[in-house]
Amino acid sequence: MVYYRDSIARTLIGLGAKENVPLSELVSFRVGGPAAFVLQPRQEETLVRALELCHEERIPVAMLGNGTNVLPSDEGFSGLVLLLSGDGAAPVFEGDAVVVGAGTSLTALAKESVQRGRMGLERLCGIPGTVGGAVAMNAGAYGGEIKNVLSRVRLYRNGGFLWEDARLSEMGYRKSPYSWPNAIVTAVALRLAPDDGTAAAVMADCMRRRKEKQPLSLPSAGSTFKRPEGHFAGALIEGCGLKGCTVGGAQVSELHAGFIVNRGGATAGDVETLIRHVQDVVYSETGVRLEPEVKRLEDLSCIF
Ligand SMILES: Cc1cc2nc3c(=O)[nH]c(=O)nc-3n(C[C@H](O)[C@H](O)[C@H](O)COP(=O)(O)OP(=O)(O)OC[C@H]3O[C@@H](n4cnc5c(N)ncnc54)[C@H](O)[C@@H]3O)c2cc1C
Repeated sequence: MVYYRDSIARTLIGLGAKENVPLSELVSFRVGGPAAFVLQPRQEETLVRALELCHEERIPVAMLGNGTNVLPSDEGFSGLVLLLSGDGAAPVFEGDAVVVGAGTSLTALAKESVQRGRMGLERLCGIPGTVGGAVAMNAGAYGGEIKNVLSRVRLYRNGGFLWEDARLSEMGYRKSPYSWPNAIVTAVALRLAPDDGTAAAVMADCMRRRKEKQPLSLPSAGSTFKRPEGHFAGALIEGCGLKGCTVGGAQVSELHAGFIVNRGGATAGDVETLIRHVQDVVYSETGVRLEPEVKRLEDLSCIF
């Protein structure tokens, strides 16, 4: 662990940062060592001051939303984790537009949209991340993608904030130009069509399918691997006999082979080892190289 001058710690703590926070409390895998500092900025101004300080002092920064697609290491993170989740800013609905803070829960927003007679998010209900995380990952499920309803994005750039029209042509399967460290998304504007009368039923059906098919009672980061062209990762993994394969407390889910779950007491190292093992076996048996969808926190670290 790196030690910072008292004045740096005091300034960050003055902005609301917490010191020495277990990352296992911030990510859905429930693994990972401590972060030196974690700050959940409530205002854009706080975000800017923290970024400026880290830039001046060469402190590495990483960004998390709800941490539902991120794997930290057991060693932790010796810089500042910016947590853009749960900022409490209520979505503002006006006609077919909704403007919402990046830290808002995607599932809560999907449910509210349907209640308000709007459709476009109902298939994404149940994805446990933030709206900002969904834009960063171009999250999608059951034939829907956040890209399909995204209209504008509020970004921090060159010391200031601006709204830009979403660069949709640069978004694709789990690919987005709006992902840290390329972008810091603080709010988004979505365009939602009037409900044609099917939204609530579609949402309920998607939630039912999730509950049936996914190991939701155990910590995970959802699908561990991206869908390889022409295949399904879960089917390939299951076909190689890896369902239930275990390393320490990490296991290829017995319910859905596309998920690696923490059965209890897993370390990040267990998860990493199991990811590599699955990749190696699937590659040697099928020739398909699985690429993780889950992001490593250390790969998100940068001097911003
Ligand atoms: C049980 C389960 C089911 C899941 N099902 C699905 C599914 O059906 N479809 C799907 O697509 N995903 C799914 N996921 C994965 C995950 O929920 C999504 O990728 C989600 O969009 C991540 O959002 P997050 O807020 O948790 O982001 P995080 O996991 O915290 O971060 C993900 C990436 O986004 C970046 N990021 C986060 N917020 C911002 C921001 N404001 N500005 C810039 N960059 C940012 C982070 O730096 C990181 O690179 C599932 C996960 C779980 C645990």
